[in-house]
Amino acid sequence: MWLSFSFKISRALTTVEKLARLSEMQEQRTDKKTAPECPFAPLAPSYLVRDKEFFMKHAYNQALKAWKESEVPVGAVIEMNSQIVAFAHNMVETTKDPTAHAEILAISQAAAKLGDWRLNECTLYVTKEPCPMCSGACVMARLKKVVYAVPDPKMGFLGGALKIHEVPTLNHHLEVECGVLAEQCQQMIKTFFMLKRKSAENADVC
Ligand SMILES: [Zn+2]
Repeated sequence: MWLSFSFKISRALTTVEKLARLSEMQEQRTDKKTAPECPFAPLAPSYLVRDKEFFMKHAYNQALKAWKESEVPVGAVIEMNSQIVAFAHNMVETTKDPTAHAEILAISQAAAKLGDWRLNECTLYVTKEPCPMCSGACVMARLKKVVYAVPDPKMGFLGGALKIHEVPTLNHHLEVECGVLAEQCQQMIKTFFMLKRKSAENADVC
């Protein structure tokens, strides 16, 4: 009797906690700064040729989704045997999680889908050069290759600021390629920050 009563109380508490958490998340969502309107349209990858541009176009479309959710527009897809096994976009603001970068989310998704943390047969396509955290994750996930569009000379660790994949003691060889669809992806990131700055300046004036 007492056990059943305490079970009911604990269930009721769990529900109350859940409701409190939900309303907290809704408040956070309302507080979240809205992104400037996105002037770019999604690209239409041709399914006839599954080349590097095909996969990067999908990553580009993921980046657009990030923009529409007020995130810095970075998108990623993971390919294996010409199939997309994971796709993700930056979700740092939405989740309030500094590790929720597109690459990390895509790697976790691919590992869960394939049932293996070793992604030796997989290539990651991402619209911007991976940061130190994501570059490390690419090595730890044993990815075959990383293809990125825009180099990042300040924070990029796969050629920009540092070449983590060329550390001689690493026990995994990671191929890296840069520049696929670079112009379009660069344009999107540049425009996002330019419009954000503009709207911040306008807000200061008002
Ligand atoms: Zn990152």
